[in-house]
Amino acid sequence: MILSSEHILATTEQTLTQQIIDRRDRYMSINYPRYPIAMVRGEGCYLEDAEGKRYLDLFAGFGAGLLGHCHPDLVRTITEQANKLWHPGNLMHTEPQALLAERIACHGFDGRSFFCHSGADANEAAIKLARLYGKARPGADGKRYKVISANDGFHGRSFGTMLATGQQKAREGFEPFLPGFVNVAYNDLMAIKHAIDVETVAVIIEPIQGEGGVNVPDDDYLPRLRELCNEHDLLMICDEVWTGCGRTGRYFAYQHWGIEPDIMTLAKGVGGGLAVGVMCAKPHIAELYNCNTQGGVKHATTLGGNCLSMAVSVTIFDLLNRHGLVEHAAELGQWAMERLRRFAQHCPTVKDVRGKGLMIGIELNPQAQGSPFNNVNEVVERCMECGVLTNAIQGAVLRLAPPVIISQSQMEEGLDVIEHAIST
Ligand code: PMP
Repeated sequence: MILSSEHILATTEQTLTQQIIDRRDRYMSINYPRYPIAMVRGEGCYLEDAEGKRYLDLFAGFGAGLLGHCHPDLVRTITEQANKLWHPGNLMHTEPQALLAERIACHGFDGRSFFCHSGADANEAAIKLARLYGKARPGADGKRYKVISANDGFHGRSFGTMLATGQQKAREGFEPFLPGFVNVAYNDLMAIKHAIDVETVAVIIEPIQGEGGVNVPDDDYLPRLRELCNEHDLLMICDEVWTGCGRTGRYFAYQHWGIEPDIMTLAKGVGGGLAVGVMCAKPHIAELYNCNTQGGVKHATTLGGNCLSMAVSVTIFDLLNRHGLVEHAAELGQWAMERLRRFAQHCPTVKDVRGKGLMIGIELNPQAQGSPFNNVNEVVERCMECGVLTNAIQGAVLRLAPPVIISQSQMEEGLDVIEHAIST
């Protein structure tokens, strides 16, 4: 059916926000719960809604807006690239892809990058690569294919990654499932040890759990997991979708613990708001995707590595370097957490303050005596009314993930509002 004029909603009397919401309700699949706000503009750490209200953004689109909104250098990059070349297809070489792969290798381990569009996409590429590895290096009983992951972890919503995602609700209704996924407790090396069998090939882990509640593991967890993986010839896949590209005060969060994974995946911040996913593997593992030596194309995606996204990602790395933004994230995050911890000493509704760099979780206790709120969503809404965007996860944690360009005074402005919302 062709859309005729009676399908176009009459909207003249309504606010722009209401027009947008009505169209969404009528024509969009309602996958996301949304606040009754429509954003129309962004600049730096601020957003503006359709009614002209300004917000300080400590949410950054689930952490994806690493350098804030409409960063002038990124706008310049994408405009120049848009006037030059978008995407000739992956049968040809393009410079932005090659430059981004180099940037990633220079700041992480010397791996080989595959470009795609999202965190799920990148993790799917990693899991498929792990299965090739398990076939190439079989165990005593034949090929290995099982992937161990952690409860409360999040790795995506595709068929493979939703099973790696250690949250029951992410997979309900989608049975029958793919075989080969095992979820165990996070930050518990023995749990992983017990789950390893002759069919295990990889462990996929977030160095700091993002959706799980900003959970920072004990200092020896990742180094010992690295040793365990070496011992059993398992691939250690670090999902740096939340933590990558400087957010935690290191280029990649695994660097806090002095280890290297075999495979690292990126999304969110690496695209700064564009759809970019990266799967970066050590060369001998990436070799299993080599179309020249492995009998043809093993994994691919049409628009992966398109010039617009790649050019922007290259500039993101250059800006992180030029302006010392990774160190800034480390220092400002430390300062913010110290301030919040001091505040928590006198505020019984705060149970814990945790995180690294500008990935901060404030665990709240709505049941505490005198608590002015019944759940964390109420705190998010109170902050929003006062023009500060935050986000609630796992029922009890307020998550802060501002753009890493945020200044101390902007952070203070945000924390003033948050502390007020939590305590009065
Ligand atoms: N890994 C992690 C750690 C994530 O937090 C997410 C999304 N929240 C994903 C993977 C999936 O990313 P995407 O939504 O881009 O598919």
